[in-house]
Amino acid sequence: MGHHRLAVIPGDGIGPEVTDAALAVLDAAEQRFGFSTERTTVSLGADRYLESGELLPDEAVAELRSNDAILFGAIGSPKVTPGILEHGVILAMRAAMTQAVNLRPVRLYPGVPTPIAGLTPQRCDLVVVRENSEGAYVGRGSTVHRGTPAAVAVQESVNTWYAAHRAVDFSFRLAQQRRKKLTLCHKTNVLVEAGRLWLSVVEELSAQYPDVETDYVHVDAMCMHLPTTPERFDVVVTDNLFGDIVTDLGAVLAGGLGVAASGNLNLDGSGTSMFEPIHGSAPDIAGRGWANPAGAVLSLALALGTLGEGEAAAAVEAAAASVLSELPALAGEAMGATTEVVGQRIVDRL
Ligand code: ATP
Ligand code: MG
Repeated sequence: MGHHRLAVIPGDGIGPEVTDAALAVLDAAEQRFGFSTERTTVSLGADRYLESGELLPDEAVAELRSNDAILFGAIGSPKVTPGILEHGVILAMRAAMTQAVNLRPVRLYPGVPTPIAGLTPQRCDLVVVRENSEGAYVGRGSTVHRGTPAAVAVQESVNTWYAAHRAVDFSFRLAQQRRKKLTLCHKTNVLVEAGRLWLSVVEELSAQYPDVETDYVHVDAMCMHLPTTPERFDVVVTDNLFGDIVTDLGAVLAGGLGVAASGNLNLDGSGTSMFEPIHGSAPDIAGRGWANPAGAVLSLALALGTLGEGEAAAAVEAAAASVLSELPALAGEAMGATTEVVGQRIVDRL
């Protein structure tokens, strides 16, 4: 059984609350499965920025790089101008650690309420792989003219074979371990240049993975298929912007913000993968104990899976799913138990 170095970024708001719950689950998983972790807390986020003006100092990057995985809570604060922490810490970290893809499972666990009438867990078990480094997120563009009525804003989307190839190749390999179906989601009929590149990468790689069936769905059609026929999908690969949108829709199917987990994966050993619940710092409920820790605990399960602790990953996921099925509500006061108590129930189940 392994020994793993783990960097922990609790962050702001409910971030430290859900991270504490996840770490208690990690303690229990270590005891039961006989592996160990050495944890280093890295303080990043609003408090550090407000005290020192620091966003992502070099020594923090070096510390993160020296670990095997990063557990991230949430970063954000109403006291900081929107955009500063997102660009200065979160996006900067994704770039520094070459977190090439964002992995988001969309899995409805038994007994978890979903707003989609008639949806069953058997029909909702897919994974979205979002390209995490380029597309419309490269921040290239210009305002050609300002002011009405002549204003013109140009926003560029950059798509390289390199980034599409590594995301699609990862997705094929993931599909091989699952139900062997890969769907490309794009808008090739309108975004013809980028669309052609993505389609050609899928076609090129499909020859290397003949056991995986491939399929293509426009992003608008995806927004219709995902809530109505999610069983159609196994692994969905998509670009940065479409992935951002489609994964939020996916989170709704599976029970919402408090439940959804994600991984920002480094695929070539040049950086460290980071695992985080998809929710933010939720300043409105911070300090009350109303945050659901399931998203953080399920993110821990994803981390354990990539660290090679597959058995522990499956057990943590099963324990979280089992406790979720018993909660009267997935968030807030109606959850009927505090963040810590829900975390403790997951520990007991383990
Ligand atoms: P940030 O700026 O950091 O993204 P935010 O205000 O956008 O923070 P989110 O975490 O994105 O907050 O979530 C929006 C709302 O959903 C929160 O205000 C909160 O009420 C609710 N919420 C989010 N996460 C959870 C959770 N784990 N448990 C319960 N409720 C949550
Ligand atoms: Mg938010």
